[in-house]
Amino acid sequence: MSPGGRTADLDLKAMMEELWAKVRVYNPQADEDKLWFGYRFAKAAHEGQMRKSGEPFFTHALTVATILADLRLDVDTLIAAMVHDVVEDTDYEMEDIRQRFGKDVAHMVDGVTKISGIRAVNKDARKAETYRKLVLAIAQDPRTVLIKLADRLHNMRTLSFLKDDRQLDIAQETMDVYVPLANRFGIARMKWELEDLAFKVLQPERYFEVEAGINQTRAERERLIQKIVTPLHESLNHAGVKHEISGRPKHFYSIYRKMKEQDIGMDRVYDLLALRIIVDTKADCYHALGALHSQFPPLADRIKDYIATPKANMYQSIHSTVRVPGGKYIEVQIRTGDMHDRAELGIAAHWRYKEGGGADKSDLAEMVKWLRQIMVWEEDVADAEEFMETLKVDFFRDEVFVFSPGGDVFQMPRGATPLDFAFRIHSEVGFRCIGAKVNGRIVTLRSELQNGDSVEILTSKTPNPSSSWLEVVKTSRAKHHIRRWIKTTQFEESVKLGREILEKELKRAHLKTKVDDLVDVSQQMGYTDLDKMLAAVGRGEITHMKVVGRVAPAPESKAEKVISRGKEIYDSLLGRSTSGVRVAGVDNLMVSFARCCQPIPGDSILGIITRGRGVSVHRVGCSNLNDPNLGPERMIEVSWDSGPDQTFMVKLIIQAVDRKNLLMDISNTLSNTNTNIASGEFSAEDDLAKVTMVVEVRNLNNLEKILKALGKVRGVQGIERFQLGTRKN
Ligand code: MN
Repeated sequence: MSPGGRTADLDLKAMMEELWAKVRVYNPQADEDKLWFGYRFAKAAHEGQMRKSGEPFFTHALTVATILADLRLDVDTLIAAMVHDVVEDTDYEMEDIRQRFGKDVAHMVDGVTKISGIRAVNKDARKAETYRKLVLAIAQDPRTVLIKLADRLHNMRTLSFLKDDRQLDIAQETMDVYVPLANRFGIARMKWELEDLAFKVLQPERYFEVEAGINQTRAERERLIQKIVTPLHESLNHAGVKHEISGRPKHFYSIYRKMKEQDIGMDRVYDLLALRIIVDTKADCYHALGALHSQFPPLADRIKDYIATPKANMYQSIHSTVRVPGGKYIEVQIRTGDMHDRAELGIAAHWRYKEGGGADKSDLAEMVKWLRQIMVWEEDVADAEEFMETLKVDFFRDEVFVFSPGGDVFQMPRGATPLDFAFRIHSEVGFRCIGAKVNGRIVTLRSELQNGDSVEILTSKTPNPSSSWLEVVKTSRAKHHIRRWIKTTQFEESVKLGREILEKELKRAHLKTKVDDLVDVSQQMGYTDLDKMLAAVGRGEITHMKVVGRVAPAPESKAEKVISRGKEIYDSLLGRSTSGVRVAGVDNLMVSFARCCQPIPGDSILGIITRGRGVSVHRVGCSNLNDPNLGPERMIEVSWDSGPDQTFMVKLIIQAVDRKNLLMDISNTLSNTNTNIASGEFSAEDDLAKVTMVVEVRNLNNLEKILKALGKVRGVQGIERFQLGTRKN
């Protein structure tokens, strides 16, 4: 081993010892052997790989684990962090991880590996698909997101070793994906750092402007703090509230965002400085608020009580902006120590090792509930991009708080409409919604709800959703309900229609079979239940012919007549196919194929405008076209426009020398050419047999192949395509 390698090894070992020292403080019972085993395994796996910074690659994974140890996470998470790049960057498989460290660790690594593929939001469907995987991975084990965030944090800290354009890409992705992710999971500590690191790369001039501004005003700010903190201490002590006060400048990016949003200079950003009062109990929070306001008057519209109404990421705190001596304003946050922990660590707080027990999962279920809900709703969403759009609303947007007429507070994602609110109250309210009043005034259902709006929903007696509502609502909850409704009602109507069609057709075909007897047929056709097949018929996805054609024939007394089933069925059906032909540029015209000549694609055809039955399509040369009553004004040009899977019925008349197995040979020949026989009829006089068959063909070419094959059957003397008028049937 090279001397450099040895030094690197010693550095890694020192890092690991430091990591273990941290862990043993908060978790003395931690499995030290398992942790070191993970270290040795991952170190060996990455042996020889280098980072762009020139350090051994494994420093990265080890740092990620250390960041997580600072959040006091459990041993499995730390190991998963140490091995998180092993599957992606070495020859080891997920199975190797599972065998060594168990399925929990393997799951986390799997999730992290999948998330690695994610690039900026909303680029294309493939990326959205990866996002789905992310949501799934997090729903399965929320620790996955902690590892991924720590991974990104370390990569952002060491970004300067990459080329400029890579830096920009990664910083943008961090801003688009990981900052909102950290925010949604309430991990303020990571959110701020990621945001400021990305800000510095994306808008360096702005970043340094803010930095310079903060440095310039430092002395002034410290004087200000003293002016506030001293009287506040006294006031709180007087009220008997145990407390700690801390104050520091806000994060760079949040200052910049305020300046941009409100179009103001830095001197006018109220909460350049946030003062934080940490107390013991919830009651003390309100006592402290009282003490604060008795000293410094609040700005009435800038008090936010996130204790009574926590944010979706479970953030709790009271915010109040107060006026301080010199005409300045400052934002004060009041919260308990527990709330503070959760605000800084978010979801991580729930996985922290607790003395005398494992991870605290009490609120964790609540925290990922919304995520699981999205996974359920997501099943309704056909394409990944749409899923992404809804997810972005539920996941990444800020919240607004709105009120019901009764004064209840509801939290909605920013951008939500009154219709979203209606569905938020109850799906029935949503379905019956016909309008809304916001702050007493009628508004359109499309209008965006604002913080503090009081929303009243106007309803009708009957539900009235429409598919256009999907454009109006923003939340996945509302979308889910609307989609369900459309699906259900449309489905019911289609089933009804399909049932009517089939009842009529079965009757017309003189079949005793009832629609409810078609369960087997529906299964043969690949439907899980009868209603689904009926709906498909109702929607026109499959023709009634396909269904009726599959109804098993009633047993015949004469063996040779097995394939004989009333020619009426097919004759009646033949005239009723309505697609496959284009009529001189006109759409949606009723089209039927003449029974007399049964045209199929490839035949030259001509349309006759009938009275009340649309256009009837005939083969050119059909004797019926010679009808003296037909004037040229009733002839219309038509052309074939059939899909590749569309089939047409053709009746064939086969003359043959009667012999044993003749019918069997004919039907075998047809099945060898993949031809469906719709019906057949057999008659024999002396030793001459006549077989009439209706077969399904795609086009003329297909028919010619069939005729050729049939011509080779022993005994066959002639085959004719049925044409009314040329031969009596
Ligand atoms: Mn990594």
